[in-house]
Amino acid sequence: MSRPQQITVLGATGSIGLSTLDVIGRHPERYQVFALSGFTRLSELLALCIRHAPRFAVVPEAAVAQGLQDDLRAAGLQTRVLVGEEGLCQVASDPEVDAVMAAIVGAAGLRPTLAAVEAGKKILLANKEALVMSGALFMQAVRKSGSVLLPIDSEHNAIFQCMPRDFSRGLGVVGVRRILLTASGGPFRQTPLEELVHVTPEQACAHPNWSMGRKISVDSASMMNKGLELIEACWLFDARPSQVEVVIHPQSVIHSLVDYVDGSVLAQLGNPDMRTPIANALAWPERIDSGVAPLDLFAIARLDFQAPDEQRFPCLRLARQAAEAGDSAPAMLNAANEVAVAAFLDGRVRYLEIASIIEEVLNLQAVVSLDDLDAVFTVDARARELAGQWLRRHGR
Ligand code: NAD
Ligand code: MG
Repeated sequence: MSRPQQITVLGATGSIGLSTLDVIGRHPERYQVFALSGFTRLSELLALCIRHAPRFAVVPEAAVAQGLQDDLRAAGLQTRVLVGEEGLCQVASDPEVDAVMAAIVGAAGLRPTLAAVEAGKKILLANKEALVMSGALFMQAVRKSGSVLLPIDSEHNAIFQCMPRDFSRGLGVVGVRRILLTASGGPFRQTPLEELVHVTPEQACAHPNWSMGRKISVDSASMMNKGLELIEACWLFDARPSQVEVVIHPQSVIHSLVDYVDGSVLAQLGNPDMRTPIANALAWPERIDSGVAPLDLFAIARLDFQAPDEQRFPCLRLARQAAEAGDSAPAMLNAANEVAVAAFLDGRVRYLEIASIIEEVLNLQAVVSLDDLDAVFTVDARARELAGQWLRRHGR
């Protein structure tokens, strides 16, 4: 039998990271953990290292590395601790690694994910922000290195499963008319509009169907998540924004659909559990057990659909505008959103102000072309600065 595949999990202590390790742990003959990274919750990282015995663990700074190294040694492990972005890039591109789960949240995931792409690894992409910020450069690097890019986002994984294998020839060529991107509508789908001004981070993070990290939970409540996913879909499937339609489907059972010119519409269904797309991408093109319970259609009984309301979800409108503007607009949108969501989670701004901050940043910053990674980070920094100015003027 061939040797187990060596897997690096970036963002191992997060929601996606833990689900990935759950699936990996079910198939020790197929997968071995090569490296794990964590940013906070380092005692959890230690526990994960004890369970999976990786070759490397990566932490944010030297100040915490020594303590973890001592604890690992005391536990009888050979795991070596590396530090910072350099450490992340090293474990993402090590010659022994077969696949990299990119599950760091936000812009912080971009460089390590690109390092994995440039090294030609199989990429399991959860970190949608990387693609939103630098889609053109990212996809160019994928083509250049021949790296296999597999989407983990449940919607994009569903679309991937419903697409013909040769979709990269062009959606028109393979007979695809539209992509139907489903959204649950989040916790505020039916909240009276006048009450939205008062909603708290706890309410925003209480997603009806999915359990996720706090940033993506707020993005799901505002539907910025769907906006980022619209941009992500355009890059992954070489679609125009007008070819991607957002459909609210509150049960989160259909994870997205592909509409073909002959009138066929293919959908992927399953329980809302990220272990399904993770197992799908890990084993692709094979199938493995993910631990997810079989779908019980009789218990679900009905599936509902509705169009999104842009008055309720202004972030979705802003994201579509950025997708259509192209170039640096999605990177500006993403950076402003990261600052605004962090401020909301810290109680410095109200929920409805998230969209106001992003809109102001998009209005103040001219769209420029992004020719290299430095240009991406310059735009990202400027958008963060403008969002910071908004917070100093209006934040609490
Ligand atoms: P999370 O907050 O639960 O975990 C984030 C991980 O990133 C943690 O391991 C954390 O330690 C690490 N991290 C945070 N900041 C970092 C930094 N500055 N440098 C290095 N590491 C850092 O988030 P999550 O819900 O697991 O989401 C991870 C990514 O997957 C996000 O991009 C999200 O959009 C995407 N995603 C998540 C889900 C989901 O169901 N959770 C679904 C689809 C896509
Ligand atoms: Mg998703």
